Amino acid sequence: MKEFWSQRIRDMVPYTPGEQPKGRTFIKLNTNENPYPPAPGVTAAIQAAAGEGLRLYPDPECTQLRAALAAYHGVTPEQVFVGNGSDEVLALCFQAFFCGGKPVVFPDITYSFYPVYAALYGVDYRLIPLNEDFTVPVEAFLGENGGVLLPNPNAPTGRALCLDQIERLAAGNPEAAVVIDEAYVDFGAESALALLDRYPNLLVVRTMSKSRALAGLRVGYAIGSANLIAGLNCVKNSFNSYTVDRLAQAGALASVEDEAYFQENRRKVMHTRTRVAAELEALGFTVCPSQANFLFASHPAHGGKELLDGLRSKGVLVRWWDQPRISRYLRISVGTDGEMDALLSALKELL
Ligand code: PMP
Repeated sequence: MKEFWSQRIRDMVPYTPGEQPKGRTFIKLNTNENPYPPAPGVTAAIQAAAGEGLRLYPDPECTQLRAALAAYHGVTPEQVFVGNGSDEVLALCFQAFFCGGKPVVFPDITYSFYPVYAALYGVDYRLIPLNEDFTVPVEAFLGENGGVLLPNPNAPTGRALCLDQIERLAAGNPEAAVVIDEAYVDFGAESALALLDRYPNLLVVRTMSKSRALAGLRVGYAIGSANLIAGLNCVKNSFNSYTVDRLAQAGALASVEDEAYFQENRRKVMHTRTRVAAELEALGFTVCPSQANFLFASHPAHGGKELLDGLRSKGVLVRWWDQPRISRYLRISVGTDGEMDALLSALKELL
């Protein structure tokens, strides 16, 4: 039968997200969702927006939300771009900044979406292996790159670069966009936002899915120089000019307005992370130092796949990758204290 897909798309391996189970109830520690509900004002804001406005298109510029985010982060609204989850913002980065011919670089062991986007948009990329201890070898990222993209903290390791190292990335790639994906930054790492004044090539990408518990709403954003933001707008407006729906804009705005809830949520997640890391170590696991809302851990006597399957049979979902260097590791999202106690009991039975 005739194939109508282009060869490039036929050669692609599409991204497979972590399982979203249907039917049986699992303790879900596999996709780094926040275990607590979003700020209490979010639902009321969504209901109000639904009542008054579904007949009308949303504000394509997300004016109110951008203004709130700009005020929150101490930048101007022209420095903020809002998209449908940070995945969409990252996709637009590939189209706007990484199509210049020279390869974009990202770490070998990182968010598995990046190579998928590169293949989808026909962007050349070069993988730079992480150091033995899973830290990012900053030196190897400096030079004539067509772009730099990396998460800080990295996923799935949870290890973070400090501000000096991020600055070296931005300073060492003056001709290229340096995109720092800060999906997990609120759980303890240093943000590159502090460098924006000095580096017009630096773009920070954030999500509301993790620290704001709004994965279901699909809101992400980018902050950078007005020039980079104009690049994102140019691609977006040529593709889907409305993008973020009314309900998402209203809910996200209500979340930004509740700082106390946000701080308390981060504190709880980080507190549980510290406790569970110590308990996993007591069970014999090696645990990567994490600045994220997940732990990356391996056990000397039990393979990753064995533990993944064992936990699943006991009703606990975690994440595992069939990749040689990390195949002994599990990535475990930080849940509520009760969920983590159930994880630890299940592991004790399996070990
Ligand atoms: N970046 C990283 C490193 C992630 O792990 C994720 C979530 N899987 C995202 C971006 C995308 O998050 P969202 O699209 O929900 O904003």
